[in-house]
Amino acid sequence: MNIIQEYIYRGLNIRSSVILLLLGALVLQPLVGVSQSNHSMINTVVIDAGHGGKDPGAVSKIVNEKDVVLSIALKLGTYIEKYFPAVHVIYTRDTDVFIPLNRRSEIANQNKADLFISIHANANNNTSISGTETYTLGLHKTQENLEVAMKENAVMLYEDDYSTKYEGFDPQNPASYIIFNLMQGMNREKSINLAELTEFQFKTRVGRHSRGVREAGFWVLKQVSMPSILVEVGFVSNPTEANYLKHSDNQDYLASAIFRAFRDYKTKVEESSVVLEKKEELVQADTSLIVPETTEPKTDSLIEFCVQVKSSSKQIPLNSVAFNNLEDVKERISDGIYKYTVGSTNQYNEIVQLQKEVRKVISDCFVVVFYNGERISLSKARKLQKT
Ligand SMILES: [Zn+2]
Repeated sequence: MNIIQEYIYRGLNIRSSVILLLLGALVLQPLVGVSQSNHSMINTVVIDAGHGGKDPGAVSKIVNEKDVVLSIALKLGTYIEKYFPAVHVIYTRDTDVFIPLNRRSEIANQNKADLFISIHANANNNTSISGTETYTLGLHKTQENLEVAMKENAVMLYEDDYSTKYEGFDPQNPASYIIFNLMQGMNREKSINLAELTEFQFKTRVGRHSRGVREAGFWVLKQVSMPSILVEVGFVSNPTEANYLKHSDNQDYLASAIFRAFRDYKTKVEESSVVLEKKEELVQADTSLIVPETTEPKTDSLIEFCVQVKSSSKQIPLNSVAFNNLEDVKERISDGIYKYTVGSTNQYNEIVQLQKEVRKVISDCFVVVFYNGERISLSKARKLQKT
């Protein structure tokens, strides 16, 4: 079977050499990055228990930060695994070991996590201060918030070569923190949403004193490329709160609060994603997306248009009759749903031609587009191709 025939399904008589050429062009487009997850789906969560090993974090006579946060992190992960078995939970540490700050964000980035939750406990010279705070990355608005970030970032001082590894960043110099002013990425809105849900849970369901959602320059949040929060579960410097944090039952309440915030966040993000997917199906009828035949082929090989032919909660063998003899069906998994596509091109008009043909055997097929392996909207693809 030659390369063109590989993209033509059996039993379909294609007479037009133009279409043959078109389909042939599809074959020449490399398949770039098979998407394992829709960007809006929460498939992988990295849970980061702060400190560990030689770095105790905030210390007190009653309890140390590193122990409290490890326990809460493990309890949170257990809840997520129990109620969302399809979600992959990764811990930056699950024992009492020292993990460099950069390594924590590396773990999240390398695993393409959809969410990063860092868990810490606070300390203050004023031992009467108590309560929870949830941070997102940003420039501190108060000296108090700056001091929390400075304290957490200071863990890099445990590493001998920190000034090289951390690009000259000095965690103890307030002037260094100006860099966080520019770090207002696309994940900011989602991070703030999760932070608000978390503080809401602490306050209303666990009865903690919520000190609110805040922004500050945490190195570990700056380095991760997904929505992220840093939770301060309470002050070990306050004896009453330290005694509260010490007990396993209370750690469980705090973990379940973060879990419920996670659950609500996941539901919200994924519901809005489904709405977007439905809109995309409607957009496919928009012929204004078709670029003229004379347009030079773009070099933007990161864009990949495909025709989605089936989706199912159960895996379908690629040679199943469900595909009506379509060949070269590809399987993608998105949030536990198996999605099957044919074709691969960075030219929208080519995929529309293929869709017309595929419709003869699978009438409800539709065009989907990926950018660097991640599902994006057709309108975003159009914008990318204009630039
Ligand atoms: Zn900490």
